[in-house]
Amino acid sequence: MAAITRLVRRTVSISNLASRCLSPHLPRKDPADRKVQWVFLGCPGVGKGTYASRLCDLLGVPHIATGDLVRQELASSGPLSAQLSEIVNQGKLVSDEIIISLLSKRLADGEAKGESGFILDGFPRTINQAEILDGVTDIDLVVNLKIREDVLIEKCLGRRICSQCGTNFNVASINIKGENGSPGISMAPLLPPAHCMTKLITRADDTEVVVKERLRIYKEMSQPVEGYYDNQGKLLEFELPGGIPESWPKLLQALNLDDYEPKQSVAA
Ligand SMILES: [Zn+2]
Repeated sequence: MAAITRLVRRTVSISNLASRCLSPHLPRKDPADRKVQWVFLGCPGVGKGTYASRLCDLLGVPHIATGDLVRQELASSGPLSAQLSEIVNQGKLVSDEIIISLLSKRLADGEAKGESGFILDGFPRTINQAEILDGVTDIDLVVNLKIREDVLIEKCLGRRICSQCGTNFNVASINIKGENGSPGISMAPLLPPAHCMTKLITRADDTEVVVKERLRIYKEMSQPVEGYYDNQGKLLEFELPGGIPESWPKLLQALNLDDYEPKQSVAA
């Protein structure tokens, strides 16, 4: 009983917060009068940030990554940073309330700058968040990026960041041969230049235990979100065939964006 009361109270407070924070900043517009409003789904480490960011450059829309919003808050000495740091270090998901308050601030800032359209990366993570989002704006398409789990774990453990310039690299060299009719997959490492090489660090949450726990929590919470958008006929499943050079042209094809590429220089 107490649990139900808590749940109801929590849901109500999220809805109130969302309508207060999001509604004024996301007026509904005819799709012809605005740019795309897409969502990118995919488990942590699949590279959805990279693909979402490239598509944003191509389409001229802001890339709104809740992961970045969280990291920015963590790096600041803002009111939420201590609470966030504890949650993230334990490999747990940040609460709806915190994400929504960070996202609403980002959307308000964008609105003030005259932005149109968006690709949301890392949001919504739950059906509750998806419903809140549907209540305030229209989502045109949801792209769900997938990759083999063994490849994903290897890739997560290969992540490095330069402690001086903050650039992300990946030292994992993945080369799995195809067998029993399933295709092989190879992904080249993304190695740093010499001046970053000696300054590489591994993020505290990129250990095997934390990576696996993150995946478990992700599946449990976010697969219903995939079902939610599938029921709306908005879900596009995309299995990454390899690294960026193999995947990017195929992703553009899947999105009917092949024609866009020549207009913009998108280096592989
Ligand atoms: Zn560097």
